[in-house]
Amino acid sequence: MQGSGQKVLLVEDNHMNMVLVKEILTMNGYEIIEAGSGTEALTSLAAVRPDIILMDLHLPGMDGITATRIIKSDERNKAIPILALTASAMRGEEDKILRQGFDGYVAKPIEIKRLLEAISTSLHTQRQLKAALEKEKETTPSSTP
Ligand code: MN
Repeated sequence: MQGSGQKVLLVEDNHMNMVLVKEILTMNGYEIIEAGSGTEALTSLAAVRPDIILMDLHLPGMDGITATRIIKSDERNKAIPILALTASAMRGEEDKILRQGFDGYVAKPIEIKRLLEAISTSLHTQRQLKAALEKEKETTPSSTP
């Protein structure tokens, strides 16, 4: 199955969207960790390590952009891909979203196929990056005595 138990931290304050996305991802083999706000997401990250984060942009209190900035500024979490969930995915908006630290975005209303594709693409890229870094570590002699 696509997800094979990989953990998705889903940050969403809209109940309907939360239920919908959770349903789709659970059915496809992902494990969901729910957070209703940016603050909750940060609290979750102190305890669990998700493979990917889906971040709604409009959240109560701290918005998704701020939460993403905080997550990406943390050395322990910066490698976790973050996809924005956004209704405002107009032409040209994608660049703006990517400049704000997101690794990609999924437009609302959520289309199942697009959501699953965006997640698997991001996880794939992440795995390749990780493998490349590990290979580099193996082949580069350590400078420490
Ligand atoms: Mn929202």
